[in-house]
Amino acid sequence: MIYDALIVGAGPAGSTAARVLAQAGWSVALVEKSVFPRRKVCGEFISAASLPLLDIADIGGGFLSQAGPEIRRVALFTGATTTNAAMPSVHNGVGAWGRALGREHLDGLLRDAAVRAGAALFQPFKLVDLQRVDGIHVAQIQGGKTLQQLAARIVIAANGSWERGPLSLPARPRHAADLLAFKAHFHGSDLPKDLMPLLMFPGGYGGMAPTDGGRISLSCCIRRDTLTQSRRLFRDLSAGEAVLAHIRRHCEGVQDALRRAQLAGAILSAGPIRPGLRPVHRAGLFRVGNAAGEAHPVIAEGISMAMQSSWLLCRRLIANERAIADGRDTRHIGAAYAREWRTHFALRLHAAAGLAHIAMRPAGAGLAASAVERLPRLLTWGARVSGKAAADVAHDPSQADVAVRS
Ligand SMILES: Cc1cc2nc3c(=O)[nH]c(=O)nc-3n(C[C@H](O)[C@H](O)[C@H](O)COP(=O)(O)OP(=O)(O)OC[C@H]3O[C@@H](n4cnc5c(N)ncnc54)[C@H](O)[C@@H]3O)c2cc1C
Repeated sequence: MIYDALIVGAGPAGSTAARVLAQAGWSVALVEKSVFPRRKVCGEFISAASLPLLDIADIGGGFLSQAGPEIRRVALFTGATTTNAAMPSVHNGVGAWGRALGREHLDGLLRDAAVRAGAALFQPFKLVDLQRVDGIHVAQIQGGKTLQQLAARIVIAANGSWERGPLSLPARPRHAADLLAFKAHFHGSDLPKDLMPLLMFPGGYGGMAPTDGGRISLSCCIRRDTLTQSRRLFRDLSAGEAVLAHIRRHCEGVQDALRRAQLAGAILSAGPIRPGLRPVHRAGLFRVGNAAGEAHPVIAEGISMAMQSSWLLCRRLIANERAIADGRDTRHIGAAYAREWRTHFALRLHAAAGLAHIAMRPAGAGLAASAVERLPRLLTWGARVSGKAAADVAHDPSQADVAVRS
């Protein structure tokens, strides 16, 4: 059998693409190497502006019934600063406030929606090889000792940006400025249930969010050299514990919020993260989500960008399905998708990079602290600019019209 599309990775990007294409009647193979449910390095926050995406995915109800409380305030925790301000609200018929849900729950909901729509799921199977033979992509996937071959007209790389494999970005030499990502859950925190603080500390940035089951998530990125210094300072601690100790030392708000909290599960790590935009198309292979481009997670928008990029790509693929079935050149589809990707996300990528660089430098964090202490509304404005309030064209399926036919 030759599938219309082979999708590698069942994170938010891959499962969204699989569901949209399967709903349009495409035969889709969705390949995911991990066993679900699995926790993942991520702050887990989804802004109100992005909730309609979940509704379109048919998991809006499941998300709202499991997610943590409504997050109505945003804060900056750095040094002794713990200033907070209103989160911008959105009136979209689904929910006015963003909420967080553990990736062990969210990714399962999205994957199941893809399977309900008709996608064939291969899990746990890892893509280990990919070749193109006479215009058809031939993939080897491996699950335990089982090797299987799949053939498809197009491939969608939704494999994220942090793991090695045939679709991965080329490896880069280790560098002091590499950003390693960590995440922990806590029970019994004193963080107010409606508050999402941005954390700025020397050599890194992060965030906290009240999530499902009364837990809070703390996720962050830290420079490799800062991590090395912290490990020297906190000799008896693991890497993850040393990172948490570094953050508590430099953010009084975190220290206060976690004073009575207990760690829930292991501290996870990933990375180095690879912020930036990559080529999104090559010879019938399209990239979505983090595989296409990654914003510094300081703006907590990656899940919605992953889902939106899949939706942007898939509506173009569906509009051109005849050309794809006939094996015609897909370069024009890739070029149009690349333009749309930049229109929707390039500004967010640049804004996030700017904010991340301010956050990681003590002088920058100090300036940010004195600015928001004088004018707390800057926090509301920052949340709005990072995409917390703007309903995007990619949220609206009615936009999938003939205009994308080319
Ligand atoms: C510290 C931190 C905090 C963050 N906080 C937030 C936040 O609060 N809100 C937000 O919206 N975003 C946040 N993000 C970003 C968000 O996690 C990502 O943008 C999002 O996960 C991207 O989704 P994706 O589907 O592209 O990739 P992923 O979620 O990485 O999914 C990729 C999938 O592909 C699978 N895979 C990889 N290789 C293979 C292979 N060879 N074969 C088969 N399967 C494979 C993986 O197992 C994985 O399941 C954060 C990120 C970090 C680092």
